[in-house]
Amino acid sequence: MCGVFGIYRSAEAANLAYLGLHALQHRGQESAGIVSSDGTKLIAHRGMGLVQDVFKPAELGRLNGDLAIGHVRYSTAKTSHLKNAQPFAVTYARGAIAVGHEGNLVNAEQLREKLEARGSIFQSDSDAEVIVHLVAMSPQRTIEDRIVDALSHVQGSFSLVFLSERTLVAVRDPLGMRPLVLGQMRGAEEGTGYVIASEPCAFQLIGARMIREIAPGEMLVIDENGLRSMSAFPSTERKTCIFEYVYFARPDSTLNGASVYQVRKSFGRRLAEEMPVSCDVVVPVPDSGVPAAIGYAEKSGVPFEMGMIRSHYVGRTFIEPEQSIRHFGVKLKLSPIADVLRGKRVVVVDDSIVRGTTSRKIVKMIREAGAKEVHMRISSPPTAWPCYYGIDTPSRKDLIASSHTLDEIRQYITADSLGYLSLEGMLDAATTVRGAESKPSDYCQACFSGQYPIELAAPPSTRRQLSLLDGER
Ligand code: AMP
Repeated sequence: MCGVFGIYRSAEAANLAYLGLHALQHRGQESAGIVSSDGTKLIAHRGMGLVQDVFKPAELGRLNGDLAIGHVRYSTAKTSHLKNAQPFAVTYARGAIAVGHEGNLVNAEQLREKLEARGSIFQSDSDAEVIVHLVAMSPQRTIEDRIVDALSHVQGSFSLVFLSERTLVAVRDPLGMRPLVLGQMRGAEEGTGYVIASEPCAFQLIGARMIREIAPGEMLVIDENGLRSMSAFPSTERKTCIFEYVYFARPDSTLNGASVYQVRKSFGRRLAEEMPVSCDVVVPVPDSGVPAAIGYAEKSGVPFEMGMIRSHYVGRTFIEPEQSIRHFGVKLKLSPIADVLRGKRVVVVDDSIVRGTTSRKIVKMIREAGAKEVHMRISSPPTAWPCYYGIDTPSRKDLIASSHTLDEIRQYITADSLGYLSLEGMLDAATTVRGAESKPSDYCQACFSGQYPIELAAPPSTRRQLSLLDGER
């Protein structure tokens, strides 16, 4: 997962990109970068770490100009290294171009081999560089035609922002897998102040108003002639990632017309209907389990309590590709409130079980705090299949649900009972929040069902996946 941001004609372009990336930080904490344009050249700064660590006033001051794009990276399939930080910027025969990519190309390796055979030299492992080479080599004349030409070769998920000296371009993949939205700074003059972001929560921070979601397969070109929208690909079925609603997106974002918070709450309500249990208290795993737990408590009529608190001074449990701190794992992040748990039959609500390691530690922690019974409820179906479209999941063998029955998982996490939301219930809850125009087939749910909407260029077994947790048991 990654986050992308773009801004067209604002006196404070780099500062606003900084703030926009800060709001998108949950989408990637490994590296951050901004490329700005002063109308004649691109200026770049990238670094490893959080937005606030990568950009100090001096760096931001150097990023002149009123156009900028930015990127926060969470490496899914490539190594963690500065050379892979984005936006990726190059100068080629027709000028300069930078790109920020969110998503994952399933045929990047094949394209890279072909390009190398034709003489391209790569500096990074990132898919963004493959895209830049394709754009640079395109025989087309205008930037938009070269981008369309380049993207006709790629397969996979992508939400992209491109910047040349005078033009900002945003493109969303034909299936609309990853989110991408358009907004405008309040009070901006006509034709200026346009903003692009992975999620609308970035607009709230910078005082921009949301205009609309960028449609699957749509390309927006913003330059001195204004904003133009075009279809970059033949139209196809929408396959929006359901996991954005389950875990990844921020609850204060609205994606595809549905509030992430409301969708999560409706998952919780549905879970309470499907998997009821006699209990005294509903406790979320903070932060990601909170909205679903509120929904569960609402539907079941059982009181909601914060039975654990979360430290906000460490990153998300496994967002860092190098896993040295994972040994401390849950203890670093979560601490029980014994007073809430002691002597109680506790329902713990979390959004997903991936390897099972986190749930196992949480159940142990809650029992040690004095709970009488611990019932685990998960607001999504068993995660049994790896994602090849940008979400960091381990290989199939490390996904506990790929090789264990429900009862085996329950035993492993040592819970008194375990219940997942059904696939049907999840899709139904999401479409109900979105309203009449949406349908269950609008979603990619490959991580739960194994039905992959884009064929993989290489068989899954040969594709490298990062491990999520250190396997501490
Ligand atoms: P695990 O110990 O592998 O079962 O981890 C499950 C926990 O990780 C849940 O609490 C989720 O909130 C969280 N989670 C699920 N998917 C991801 C992901 N792709 N990246 C980071 N955290 C995740």
